[in-house]
Amino acid sequence: MLYNSTRNSNVKVNSAEAITQGISVEGGLFVPENIPVLSLDEIKAVGNMNYADRAAYVFSKYLTDFTEAEIHYCTDNAYSTKNFETESIAEIAHLFDGTYMLELWHGPTCAFKDMALQILPYFLTTSAKKINLDKKIVILVATSGDTGKAALEGFKDVEGTSILVFYPEDGVSPMQKRQMKTQEGGNVGVCAIKGNFDDCQNGVKAIFTDDEVKNQLENAGLMFSSANSINWGRLVPQIVYYISSYAELVKDGEIELGEKINIVVPTGNFGNILAAYYAKHMGIPVNKLICASNVNNVLTDFINTGVYDRNRQFYATVSPSMDILISSNLERLLYLMTDRNDEVIRDWFGKLSSEGRYEVTDDVKAKLADEFWAGFCSDDETKETISAVYGKYSYTCDTHTAVAVKVYEDYKKATEDTTKTVIASTASPYKFSAAVLEALEGAESDIDEYAKVDRIAELSKLPVPAALADLKNKPLRFNDVIEKSDQKQYVLRTLGI
Ligand SMILES: *Cc1c(COP(=O)(O)O)cnc(C)c1O
Repeated sequence: MLYNSTRNSNVKVNSAEAITQGISVEGGLFVPENIPVLSLDEIKAVGNMNYADRAAYVFSKYLTDFTEAEIHYCTDNAYSTKNFETESIAEIAHLFDGTYMLELWHGPTCAFKDMALQILPYFLTTSAKKINLDKKIVILVATSGDTGKAALEGFKDVEGTSILVFYPEDGVSPMQKRQMKTQEGGNVGVCAIKGNFDDCQNGVKAIFTDDEVKNQLENAGLMFSSANSINWGRLVPQIVYYISSYAELVKDGEIELGEKINIVVPTGNFGNILAAYYAKHMGIPVNKLICASNVNNVLTDFINTGVYDRNRQFYATVSPSMDILISSNLERLLYLMTDRNDEVIRDWFGKLSSEGRYEVTDDVKAKLADEFWAGFCSDDETKETISAVYGKYSYTCDTHTAVAVKVYEDYKKATEDTTKTVIASTASPYKFSAAVLEALEGAESDIDEYAKVDRIAELSKLPVPAALADLKNKPLRFNDVIEKSDQKQYVLRTLGI
């Protein structure tokens, strides 16, 4: 399997190169040259494996330059109860008839990002070895809160790497901030930006493609890579849990082999839902992919009209990991939907950076309408949904997952579709305790973050994840806050070049 760039189809690299580089030189994203297809029998057989083996099975189709032993080294180290609180790794909760919560947050940082970021360091160090890379890898991360912490945990003290994370100063939850500021490890750095997530991400992308920086790095024996979902090594692990959950539901007799399901994904950078799209095209029977947004509803408008327009107000919401106006992975979807037309992609994404807006062709609009359904919900609706789900099912969901539940309810009302449905549950409710507690109790409370956690534990009966309970006792290590225009200088200074 070779990988092309969305902005230059003539680029052809193997997976080890795609993973170490993170992003292609001309700014495009790596995409596998075809989508491998699994038969229904293969999917059924996957259900009889443990999670690490399910992952290895899927990876063997994409990372064809990895040996079987290399793949198993990665999956066995990443997907074990050493790192995850449940044996199943991705737990399925039965919410109500025909609706399943795919809980992706039982990893070390309590958000679904762990599903990919526990394995990415193994992919990356294995890839570096395979291509005889003699440089130290510097991971630059822009985060809306969850990626940063998950990447820090994944890469801490991993030999041959260092990691630097940027987050929006006022754009993450108190728990997320504390998780990052207290990060342990000798090769880690964390810095807040006076700006929003898009500023952080644009800064990181600009540094990645800056020739001057690249030369300075070369001379210092360093190279950048990315732990954001622009890296294929971040995306491919996310395909696994959709295939895995389908196989699991078949095995449990919840669905028939071949029966279609809907998948609902609370969406920000479009990575998680793109992974669901890949899972569908690899062979799991899917009726609709439902894209749920908060009031930063640029994707809802895009899927419904074919016009992507980021020229709009940016809102800080109670689901901060979805506060994004530039969804990077849409570029991969559009590359596929234009039959891999790199020229069109260069045009649209050029317009996105110069004018902040582009419109896709009628053909692509039709494909979007065929595969996706999109909706959004407000902060008030998010909290009402948490409260209603708790009241009806004694199930406590986080703010992001609640957005997905609400949009799914809207979908059902609009379409009367009764297809069984998997909802991606992307974070532990404890990570967003202020909004979750407000929803559960019906009023804001001014007790501190940890008292809120204790109160949620009483109400939800959910055990507090050990990693979050421990934070209270950890010293704050990282307090830097910089202007967005200083990001490049900060990186160079931190790397000592
Ligand atoms: C990152 C994140 C999302 C959005 O996922 P994308 O892949 O960026 O679309 C949703 N919920 C939570 C909790 C997240 O951390």
